[in-house]
Formats: sequence, structure tokens, C-alpha cells
Amino acid sequence: MKKKLIAGNWKMNGSIEANDGLVRAVLAGMGTPGCAVAVCVPAPYLAQLQMLRAASALELGAQDVSAHDKGAYTGEVSAAMLREFGVRYAIVGHSERRQYHGETDVLVADKAKAALAQGITPIVCVGETLAQREAGQTEEVVKRQLAAVIHANGHCVSELVVAYEPVWAIGTGKTASPQMAQAVHAVLRAQLRAATPQADRVQILYGGSMNAANAAELLAQPDIDGGLIGGASLKAADFLTIVTAAGRA
Ligand code: PEP
Repeated sequence: MKKKLIAGNWKMNGSIEANDGLVRAVLAGMGTPGCAVAVCVPAPYLAQLQMLRAASALELGAQDVSAHDKGAYTGEVSAAMLREFGVRYAIVGHSERRQYHGETDVLVADKAKAALAQGITPIVCVGETLAQREAGQTEEVVKRQLAAVIHANGHCVSELVVAYEPVWAIGTGKTASPQMAQAVHAVLRAQLRAATPQADRVQILYGGSMNAANAAELLAQPDIDGGLIGGASLKAADFLTIVTAAGRA
């Protein structure tokens, strides 16, 4: 059976002191986890995290990556730069970047491609807004977002991680029910199967107010292969409870 993946998304949170406490507590409680575990941290803290995680099972992730290799792109961070800090995952197309930075499906697909070219696994986020769900457009929206990434990445599709993150559930305390989430995951799985014979090895994560209380039930769904965790990844005890639930699921 494929291992689940629990990836924390710290968003724009942290300080050198707070990170130290959080990561030490996670490492102390994690032992040998029964699932893959990562934290996606703000870029300035990658060096600190690289040291803190040392040779542990805690993988390092970035929250974004440039679609470009290098050059006059002020403020951007390339996949090759991330690689130098031992980064294993990069979130691409998070709804906050689509919403506040105008990231399009094509740009997200190019970012995924740039990450893959450096051996970094993109965590490709897809998800509908509340208005789109209420208009019955969920399936159409997530399929369109994923299709762009499949189109740009051809035979590398099996190397992706996909995260279904309903926008209305992110940071709101509203979670998709396990059945609602599973239904969308099944749609994404079918889309991946049409694109690659290795679709079943792609981890499809759920993200959106996953927490210590609801993780086990979500992770028990057949097509939910892990979680992308925002708020709860900033509390060591909650994050560890989710990691344990994933190890048992
Ligand atoms: C996220 O930012 O990817 C996320 C899922 O956030 P939260 O868990 O806080 O809803």
C-alpha cells in the first residue's frame, strides 16, 4: 500500500525562535513515522530547517517556486536554489497564490514543470470557491486546473502530488465531509488514470481545515492519500496527532 503524506503549510508564519521550538517538538514526538512527513516553510527559513531536520524523516518543502530557471525575476526563487537547501516538495498553485497573486493554470503548470526538472515534487493545489461549488462547478474547476498541469508535464504526471483544497475550507474551520472530499478525489484519480498508467501511485492530499479531530476520518477514504495542513501544522501536538492518524490509516 502506498504511504500517506502529511505536509504542513506554515504559510507566512514563523520566526527563528518559534521554528526552533516547533520543529524540535515535532521531531521529538515523531519517532519513525508510519507516513511521509514534510513541512513547507517560508523561504528565508529553509537554511534553518535544513539544519534542524538534519538526517531525520522530516522532509523539507517550499511554498512556491519560480517557473523560470534564473535571471531578471526579482523576488522569485528558482527550483535549483530550493534544491540547494534539500527541498523535496514545493507547493504550487495554492489558492492564496491564485487569488492574491493572479496565478493562472498555465503558470501553475509551468511551476510544476520547473520543480520536476530539479527533482522536486510539486504539490499541485486545486480547488473550487464556495460560489463555484454552489453553482455546481466543482468538478469542472478542479479538472480544468489539473488538466493544465497534466498537459504541460506529459509522462512526468505520475511524479506529482495533487492536493484537493476547497477554497471555502481553507483556514475557515469548515471542512469538506469525508464523503464530499472522497467524491472529488475520485474525479481527480480518474483524470490521472486517463493520463498515466501509474496514476495510482500519485498521492492525492486533502487540505482545508484538516485537524487533529477530523484527520482520521478523512484519511480513511480510499482516495485520500494524506493531508496538506495549514493552521494545525503550527501546533506540534496537533500536527503529530495527524501524522499518527495517517500512519494508521
Ligand atoms: C492550506 O493552507 O493549505 C490549508 C489547508 O490551510 P488550513 O489547514 O488552515 O485550512
